[in-house]
Amino acid sequence: MVVFVSVDMSKVVGELAQLPLEESVKLVVRKFIAPDFDRVFEVVNRVLCVAPHPDDCEFGVGGTIASLSRKGKRVYMVIATDGSLGTSDPAIAPQRLAEVRRQEQEEAASVLGVEKVMWLGYRDGYMPYDKEARTKLITLIRLLKPELVFAPDAWLPYEAHLDHRNTGLVTAEAVLFASLPHYTEENLITGLEPWHVSYIAFYYTSRPNTFYDITDTIEVKLEALKAHKSQVSSNWGYWEALLRYLAILYGKKIGVKYAEAFKLLPTSLLHAIPFTEIV
Ligand SMILES: [Zn+2]
Repeated sequence: MVVFVSVDMSKVVGELAQLPLEESVKLVVRKFIAPDFDRVFEVVNRVLCVAPHPDDCEFGVGGTIASLSRKGKRVYMVIATDGSLGTSDPAIAPQRLAEVRRQEQEEAASVLGVEKVMWLGYRDGYMPYDKEARTKLITLIRLLKPELVFAPDAWLPYEAHLDHRNTGLVTAEAVLFASLPHYTEENLITGLEPWHVSYIAFYYTSRPNTFYDITDTIEVKLEALKAHKSQVSSNWGYWEALLRYLAILYGKKIGVKYAEAFKLLPTSLLHAIPFTEIV
């Protein structure tokens, strides 16, 4: 049994290494790397949710966002692409669909209590993995100063949509570099102070380590999703059932009726740490 009372990690490193790997890593994270790890959603004040498409923040994080904004946190959204591929109807023009989806996203965000929605302006299906996209996100992070950033999990196995993979990757990189004072690129607004994001929470993840109780806000999440009429109205019964099903499965993990699931990481674990996967 290892007991820590404000102890220097160097004094217990031998004991820590003797524990079973997962137990050891969880202790190190909570005691020495991120003391707020189990209270992140309570202690943050500013939150940014990054979505590949209009609707992804609602699907992945909607109940949590509604809860955080009810608690007085400032929540911002960044949507990477315009959603103009999101239809099976060949008659609707992509440009028209993009306009519709922009309006739907604004409505959904206002249902959730989001402060502002920002758009990176990429075409649906063409989210780049490049320094321009990274620079846009670094700029927004330095402007908005979020302590917690939500992004789709770029390492989700079998994720075939490049917009999701690239949005997740570019966001994680932006979070990593936003705090480096010498990191600069052309187009990066000058004069912005570096900003250290404390935590990143990946949604659409197959390795959740954190479950957030959305019992009080699942109806708000569903209402926000209904605002994405172009995406869900023809098959609403299916979407509602699927979302309730997932939320019940996650809720069971923490003994509540409904929850959302995240892979939560202190951002200091986003680089060259071999145990991040099991945190
Ligand atoms: Zn999407």
